Amino acid sequence: MTDKKPAVVLSDVTHVYVSDKGASLAVDRVCLTLAEGEFVSLVGPSGCGKTTLLSIIAGLIEPTAGHVQLFGQPVDGPSSKVGYMLQHDYLFPWRTILDNACIGLELQGKVTAEHKKNVSRMLGEMGLADVVSRYPHQLSGGMRQRAALVRTLATSPDIMLLDEPFSALDYQTKLQLEQLVLDTLRARRKSAILVTHDITEAIAMSDRVIVLDHSPGQVRREMSIYGPIREASPMKARELPGFHSLFNEIWNEFEEMEARRET
Ligand code: ADP
Ligand code: MG
Repeated sequence: MTDKKPAVVLSDVTHVYVSDKGASLAVDRVCLTLAEGEFVSLVGPSGCGKTTLLSIIAGLIEPTAGHVQLFGQPVDGPSSKVGYMLQHDYLFPWRTILDNACIGLELQGKVTAEHKKNVSRMLGEMGLADVVSRYPHQLSGGMRQRAALVRTLATSPDIMLLDEPFSALDYQTKLQLEQLVLDTLRARRKSAILVTHDITEAIAMSDRVIVLDHSPGQVRREMSIYGPIREASPMKARELPGFHSLFNEIWNEFEEMEARRET
């Protein structure tokens, strides 16, 4: 049996931001292991260091202390193993949807006819076949986010980092996109970390939910999501028995954090 390396390992990762106002501890000794193919959500109060953690994993920020490994290799800068999807789609307004979706490939110098065909096919799978030649402003928010998803997947990253990618969408679009992202990542066996402020979204999409504590950001609680909820679609999961008690447990963690902040 081969011993598979975890997709991501954070060992005592600490980050201090230094500015002219002084130093602030944003992330404090966070340990986290993401298995290959696993889907983990990070939830926690605003400002608790979620985006900082993703940026560290993506190699965009070097942690002040601690170590990060992707598939057993230390991180020393941005890696093609990692795809990053954000709340804002950052599509270029002057490029068509197809050309936007190919941008990651372009940056990696990999735009061959075959790659481009592959991107067109993916856009088709995401229901965007009719709009590949249109410009971002001609599309709805949900369509733009789907185009951004294809752009991220086009370079075939093994690890997807999702920083609140559904939070600007209306509820129906958000549920549809949760399903699409989950199906897509499962079919491709990608590992993923989702940051969200929506507790129901975290439970409905994940194998595991990690609650981060505020100031400084630390792991406060980890919860495994039990089989039936994990296997159900994000929409169905929300109706299963046990969903609400998980929600309440996480909600209580937030209330306790809030109460502590007020005292
Ligand atoms: P979250 O994504 O959980 O809302 P962030 O990771 O964005 O939190 O921020 C964590 C903390 O670090 C916050 O207190 C924030 O103000 C601070 N912070 C984030 N980015 C910077 C930066 N570039 N310079 C200084 N402080 C920052
Ligand atoms: Mg953030």
